[in-house]
Amino acid sequence: ILFPDDFTAATRVTLTGRRHEHICQVHRAGPGDHLKVGLLNGAIGRGEVLQIDDNQVRLEVTLQDAAPTPLPLTVILALPRPKMLKRIIQHVTTLGAKKIYLINAYRVEKSYWQSPWLEPEKLRELCLLGLEQAVDTRMPTIELRKRFKPFVEDELAEIAADSRRLVAHPVTDSPCPVDIDGPATLAVGPEGGFIPYEVEKLQDLGFEGVHLGPRILRVETALPVLLGRLFPGR
Ligand code: SAM
Repeated sequence: ILFPDDFTAATRVTLTGRRHEHICQVHRAGPGDHLKVGLLNGAIGRGEVLQIDDNQVRLEVTLQDAAPTPLPLTVILALPRPKMLKRIIQHVTTLGAKKIYLINAYRVEKSYWQSPWLEPEKLRELCLLGLEQAVDTRMPTIELRKRFKPFVEDELAEIAADSRRLVAHPVTDSPCPVDIDGPATLAVGPEGGFIPYEVEKLQDLGFEGVHLGPRILRVETALPVLLGRLFPGR
């Protein structure tokens, strides 16, 4: 459960709407029960349920610990179809990625850029769901880049500076490394894959092609597997 940004002190709070439902129906909590709570981009703590009514819950909150350490990872993701985007953003947020670039690529369908899920407040909702799942509080940044070439030529070198650069690509000789030291920038292709020109542009910037074995995975499968291999247990 996460509180709004303006919640700043250990104190009593009232939760309504989705959070009220979650506490009553998922946790089935009652007065005296304790729940994990968090301050967005800050500490995590405990909330004691004081009172539950039909449409609100009162909690006494005490913040204690820091949120889990973010993964030292920037994800460069060719924009997937809207339904998949929704799940992927939640999953990579749950797994601890804090910087995501949604980029264009030749095989990204133009219509995907019209998705309402790309609105900042919609992306924020998806991230909140992902953070709540992980009992994490740190909101990722998500940026959109609608043109591949200028992004790669003008920005990517700086974004990926001092990090290990990897592009997930099924037809390559190197398996994805396991438990890497230091930060990484990871590029993942669209449903049809990156075209050779795009792979070459990434390789020119020092991106190593890595594979996950002989099976072709959906992007939403490939990403959690990649993160689990690169940063196991983190
Ligand atoms: N036929 C496409 C190709 O050869 O690139 C398949 C694309 S796959 C559905 C979508 C993206 O998921 C790929 O661009 C890659 O980034 C990632 N991916 C899927 N399976 C993978 C694998 N076995 N190894 C590495 N990356 C993979």
